[in-house]
Amino acid sequence: MEVAGMTLSCQELVELVTEYLEGSMEPATRARFEQHLLVCDGCGLYLAQMRRTLRATGTLRERDVAPDSLDVLRQAFRSWKLRAARG
Ligand SMILES: [Zn+2]
Repeated sequence: MEVAGMTLSCQELVELVTEYLEGSMEPATRARFEQHLLVCDGCGLYLAQMRRTLRATGTLRERDVAPDSLDVLRQAFRSWKLRAARG
């Protein structure tokens, strides 16, 4: 249940999550943001997911998959070819 002016709606929270994680949020808004997290599991999970994304990519705006996974594939393929050549 939302109390107008007191807590954020889920949609508002989603829109503000970047600001929250970047630490650029107004203290008053931040308090409302954190109040919503206390009562909403869904948004808590969303925040955790966004935090992981931020840690993995260094930014929330770049959604691209890191090219590292391609290198891993290439390396796996190379060692497979070496084994095949030896065998
Ligand atoms: Zn919510």
